[in-house]
Parts: sequence; structure tokens; C-alpha cells
Amino acid sequence: MQSIQVRLEDYDRIVFFTGAGLSVESGIPTYRGSGGIWHEYNYEDYACQRAFDRDPERVWDFHDKRREAVAACEPNEGHRIIAAAGGTVVTQNIDGLHGRAGSESVIELHGSLWRVRCDRCGTNEENDHVPLEPRTCGCGAYLRPDIVWFEDMLDPLRMSLAHRAVEGCDLFLGIGTSGVVVPAALLPRLAAEAGATCIEINPEETPASGWYQHHFRGSASEMLRKLKADSG
Ligand code: NAD
Repeated sequence: MQSIQVRLEDYDRIVFFTGAGLSVESGIPTYRGSGGIWHEYNYEDYACQRAFDRDPERVWDFHDKRREAVAACEPNEGHRIIAAAGGTVVTQNIDGLHGRAGSESVIELHGSLWRVRCDRCGTNEENDHVPLEPRTCGCGAYLRPDIVWFEDMLDPLRMSLAHRAVEGCDLFLGIGTSGVVVPAALLPRLAAEAGATCIEINPEETPASGWYQHHFRGSASEMLRKLKADSG
């Protein structure tokens, strides 16, 4: 644990850059850690456009299961501390827990399990039905989850909003992200080069650790609680 004192209240343009580690304490496993779903499922069968084009029913069965599992989870103290602090959340998570905790400015870089879209007619809407019924759009084509699957491109608008927030922030907190999924993993570097104070919260060192001046080694909610306590 770092001995520096960081007071959230001393910053007025905070970016919380969050990853799967933040939601671990809500009961949602990371992809790569123990209990991660890619040990059990091959993404090529369930989480890429090719799989969807081949067998949309199978891909939806899988996503219905994920929606059901995530719907049973609650935001944890980390999500709540972030929501109370305000600022901008740039998240790689697709679980929707920041919004459920009350965060108002959330950029979901990898989309959301709770939005569906139709690539034929352009429909894109929130949908929290589990299971999704019907699985087809009014135009007749299959809806798909509006999430960034393996091999998909990130939405350029979401990415440019994230860049703008990061370039203008004075405090950048990277929380529970391994720093290996690009291009999101490049954001800590952008923040450091823009002159922000950069803090990493993660129990482990990551490939992006070098871009942060301060490292808080521990679970997201415990470390965020300390930052909040330092704020008085
Ligand atoms: P990742 O799985 O690559 O890395 C998770 C990181 O969290 C690791 O560095 C790990 O050390 C850290 N961690 C584990 N427990 C923690 C805790 N209690 N507190 C703080 N940190 C903890 O996740 P990533 O970097 O987000 O990239 C994987 C991709 O998969 C992203 O797109 C991610 O959002 C997505 N994903 C999302 C969810 C979700 O929506 N909840 C779940 C799994 C994966």
C-alpha cells in the first residue's frame, strides 16, 4: 500500500478507467482469472461475429446465460464510491453495474450486455429481458448484443469520447484492469502524457503499471475506501 495521500476532493476532472477486476467483488469473474469464462467456453463458438453468423441461437443461449448471471449480481462498494465521487467512468465492463450504482457519465468502451442492436436496420436499444424474447428485430433480422466481441472494432465515437475525457483529466484511476486489451489499454499512457496524476488499483502488477505514478495493491473496494477516507 502506497503511503501517499490522495484526496479525491482535490481533483475536479477525475476519470475512473475500470475493468473486470472491479466487478469481481460483485461475483462476476474476470475473463482470465480463476473462474474466468474463457477457460470453459471457446470464444470462437460464442463471442465473435463469425459464430453469430453461423449459429445465432447458440450465441444467444450463451448470452442469455451471461445476462441471467449478471442480473443476479449487485454493484459493490467500489461501484458506489465511484458513483458518489462523480467524474467520468470509462469502462471496459459490459455488466452495466456502474449505471446501476448511480454513475451518470459512463462511456462503455466495449458496449453493454443490456443493449441489443440490429445490423440490418440500425436499431440500437436498451433491453433487460432475460431471456431475450424475441431474438429478432421488427425488420426480421436477428438482434445481436451490442458488445464488442473478439475481432470486432471499437465504436469510434465511444473511443473519441474516452480520449477527450482522458486528455482533459487531472486524476486518472485505473481500477481492476490487466492492461492487455488494446486499444483501451493505451489510455493510461495517454493520461500520463497529458500530465494527469495516475493511480493504479490492482492486487497485481500489470503491463500498464509503468504508466502510473502510484500503485495501490489490493482489492478495488478496499483501496477506493482508503482514497475516500483520505478525502476526509
Ligand atoms: P482482465 O480479466 O484482463 O483483468 C482483470 C484485472 O483485475 C487483473 O489485472 C486482476 O489482477 C485484477 N483484479 C482481480 N481481482 C481484483 C479486485 N478484487 N480488485 C481489483 N482488481 C482485481 O480484465 P480487463 O482488463 O477488464 O479486460 C478483459 C476484457 O473482458 C475487458 O473487455 C473486460 O471488461 C471484459 N470483461 C468484462 C466483465 C464484466 O463486464 N464484469 C467480466 C469479464 C471480462
